[in-house]
Amino acid sequence: MTETDIFGKKVPILIKNVRLNDKPTEIYLDGNGIIGAVGKAVKDHDARFIIDGEGAVALPGMVNMHTHSPMSLLRGYSDDMPLFEWLSTKIWPIEARLTESDIYWGAKLACLEMIRTGTTAFNDMYFMMNSIANAVDEAGIRACLSHCMIDNGDHAKFESECTVTEKTVAAIKARQNPRIMAGVSPHAVYTVSEEGLRWCAAFSEQENIPLHIHVDETDENPDCIKTHGMRVVPWLDHCGILSSRCIAAHCCWLDDDDISLFATRGVTAIHSPVSNMKLAVGRAFPYPKLKAAGVSVALGTDGASSNNDLDMFAEMKTAAILQKFIWNNPTIMPAGEVLAAASRNGAKALGLDAGVIAPGFFADIILVGKNPANVPDINSVSNAVYATGGLAVETTICDGVVLMHKGIIPDAEEILAKSEEVAFDLIRRATT
Ligand SMILES: [Zn+2]
Repeated sequence: MTETDIFGKKVPILIKNVRLNDKPTEIYLDGNGIIGAVGKAVKDHDARFIIDGEGAVALPGMVNMHTHSPMSLLRGYSDDMPLFEWLSTKIWPIEARLTESDIYWGAKLACLEMIRTGTTAFNDMYFMMNSIANAVDEAGIRACLSHCMIDNGDHAKFESECTVTEKTVAAIKARQNPRIMAGVSPHAVYTVSEEGLRWCAAFSEQENIPLHIHVDETDENPDCIKTHGMRVVPWLDHCGILSSRCIAAHCCWLDDDDISLFATRGVTAIHSPVSNMKLAVGRAFPYPKLKAAGVSVALGTDGASSNNDLDMFAEMKTAAILQKFIWNNPTIMPAGEVLAAASRNGAKALGLDAGVIAPGFFADIILVGKNPANVPDINSVSNAVYATGGLAVETTICDGVVLMHKGIIPDAEEILAKSEEVAFDLIRRATT
């Protein structure tokens, strides 16, 4: 099998002479999407394709735990504004004009950027999720997709949102594509009623699927206390939202009691440092306290209109340096912990056997090539977190299938051209 026809094929692959944990290693992918062997001189008799990993570093594929993938179309459309003004005057009006085709091409662009920068799975919250599922299916990566439910306290809207969520979950499950999972997503406490939150909690339990929600991105507590008589996190718990299925985005304004409740319920907290700093949410994610309490932390970029990229390498570096700076302690969030937050911890929260390069795990692997920003390779994890950007990724493999090799993604040009055309057309429709 040659380099040009390896794309999209699920065949046994041997990656030779690659560096893993600072040692030369061979990695054998078994042709069924699983890592078959890792070590020196592994059996390669049935490998249909051999990747020469000389000079490259193998890392687990990144898992982006908080995104709104079609917002890639809105990259650069509106920046440098306060969060609620930005949402209400710019983002929500243009989102109201999005068509199925826009959503599809936005998700195609997002998947392309993720493959290019080494992400092999993402946790997405948006709407028209079947169009996103089509894009993910074609791209070859993994995703957990959930309809962003907003009822604003309106019972009729609540009922229609439940129907959309049920239909979305049923349609995603009916695909029987092991790379595409369904989730449920109440947007946030300030946009979803008590009945909405309770329904989402029960539905997530009934379907045994993740629940993805924004929590305390800004200080949502004074309003929540005024409306419900308690802070956001106890209110969510009161509504049944907090469980080991719960994936809570942002979490900047948690207090100590909120953190212990997260620990007790097994919630995963998602750190999105670039978006938080760009939107100036007023407080940093309390990583040291979450870690001390035993809360699992993963990373997410947030949508491309508040980041403005989906590069998990940039997110790793930003997370590490923000946490050290804000708590004035350079020992906080060392490189190994950041890499785990960007890969294994997110995979665990989604129930995926991924994020680790070892036999039996999913063959979701990326190879980072040698470049001026990662030489010398004294410590490849340090280089990955602090030095190398996602564009240094040369090869992306998901589910044992090569999606990018030597920086080439077969349909990249078409996706770039079409998504740019779709984005300008959307802006024209929304502003005239
Ligand atoms: Zn978000």
